[in-house]
Amino acid sequence: MQSPPQAADVIVLGAGIVGVSAAYAIRERGLSVVLVDRKAPGEETSYGNAGILSSGSILPLNRPSLFRALPSYLGNNSAALRWDPAWTLRNVEWVLRFLANAVESRVRPRATALHGLIGASLKLHRDWIVRSGEPQRIRETGWLKAWRSEALGAAKAEQDFLAAYGIKSELLDRQAISALEPNMLPVYKVGLLHSQTASVDSPGNVTKAYARMFEGAGGVLRQSEIRALLSDGDGWRVVLGDGEVRARHVVVALGPWSPDILRPLGYRVPMAFERGYHQEFAPNPSRQLLRPIHDAEGSFLMTPMENGVRVTSGVELTDRDAPSNFSQLEQVVPLARGVVEFGDAVAQPWRGSRPSLPDSLPMIGPAPRHPGLWLAFGNQHIGFTTGPATGAAIAAMIAGEAPSFDASAFAPGRYL
Ligand SMILES: Cc1cc2nc3c(=O)[nH]c(=O)nc-3n(C[C@H](O)[C@H](O)[C@H](O)COP(=O)(O)OP(=O)(O)OC[C@H]3O[C@@H](n4cnc5c(N)ncnc54)[C@H](O)[C@@H]3O)c2cc1C
Repeated sequence: MQSPPQAADVIVLGAGIVGVSAAYAIRERGLSVVLVDRKAPGEETSYGNAGILSSGSILPLNRPSLFRALPSYLGNNSAALRWDPAWTLRNVEWVLRFLANAVESRVRPRATALHGLIGASLKLHRDWIVRSGEPQRIRETGWLKAWRSEALGAAKAEQDFLAAYGIKSELLDRQAISALEPNMLPVYKVGLLHSQTASVDSPGNVTKAYARMFEGAGGVLRQSEIRALLSDGDGWRVVLGDGEVRARHVVVALGPWSPDILRPLGYRVPMAFERGYHQEFAPNPSRQLLRPIHDAEGSFLMTPMENGVRVTSGVELTDRDAPSNFSQLEQVVPLARGVVEFGDAVAQPWRGSRPSLPDSLPMIGPAPRHPGLWLAFGNQHIGFTTGPATGAAIAAMIAGEAPSFDASAFAPGRYL
């Protein structure tokens, strides 16, 4: 049944971590907000990620080392990257733009931009998780990146790079890794503990907790399919499956679905979908992991979660809605079992899409040709980390203020 049109100061489209964060931060500034999603909050990409709140993920994936790795991807059987040849041909422009950003001169400017965004976001996560009444969900145990080979040089280079930004990490040898994670088998020779990184035991439930905080602050959550976004006088009309909402401002935070709603307005967003998979397994109670592990050469992550050990896979480049291909996950699960003992799968494998722009930076800011339209998406591999500050930056911009970090590198006008 159609409901009567609803009105608000701001409509936020999408209740993933980015949309929920934007809605809460805008509501905190006293504006009326309607947050719309076809599902309950945090049930898509923001549900299935590895739950790492990473202080050190300032190095984009497209950096010079990518060129060295390219030959290993040609056979299309690497756990790190699978690519669909037909997709690659159709998206050759995105691929070339992505590679063009992988040069040395483009590393530091992007790392600096991400450092600001991540720093602001971690502060908000640590504050909001307490305010939302779920402080037990955050673990301040760091994140261990580990190498099976004698990769001391690679680990040291990463440590030095991070240290230049004031990000602390500790180099570990085999013994030190065993002391840190006593239940892990001794498969790693070198480790780098990102000691300022935190993690959560359920990213979906953290997003839901922030959404409850938004509702508790007087925000309105509406569950409905978003069908269209129409310019309406000096504001916007959002057509939903069961009615309409009107507002002066609209924030597009639809993650990997963001380009769809913007196309009719003449914006062609150069987004690719770095798809990834996870599966959760029953933990062995006497062989618990104490923190997330990133197997640098095995190309997987393993995080102890509320419902089990979550193993996440590398990148699959293909259409967002192409059928699932679980081969990367099948490749890494046996490797993960060789690191720590765990039991049977507790759920079916999950698939999601990291929404990625060619420079591996999100879009945060005003749409270039439409006043009152705000863009907040493209947070790629670190969107769970960066959601809160992405949302808070949009809230500041709507209020006519500068965000708490330099957001100039994220301006949508660089692509639109
Ligand atoms: C395997 C994997 C591991 C990852 N690990 C990490 C990690 O450890 N740390 C980290 O920081 N990040 C990680 N990420 C990245 C992170 O998950 C994403 O960047 C982030 O969740 C994106 O959030 P979002 O709010 O932009 O999108 P989403 O969470 O996808 O939210 C978009 C919302 O829009 C809604 N929607 C879309 N279309 C419509 C419509 N027409 N009508 C109504 N609603 C609609 C959807 O239902 C959805 O709720 C990982 C990603 C993957 C895939």
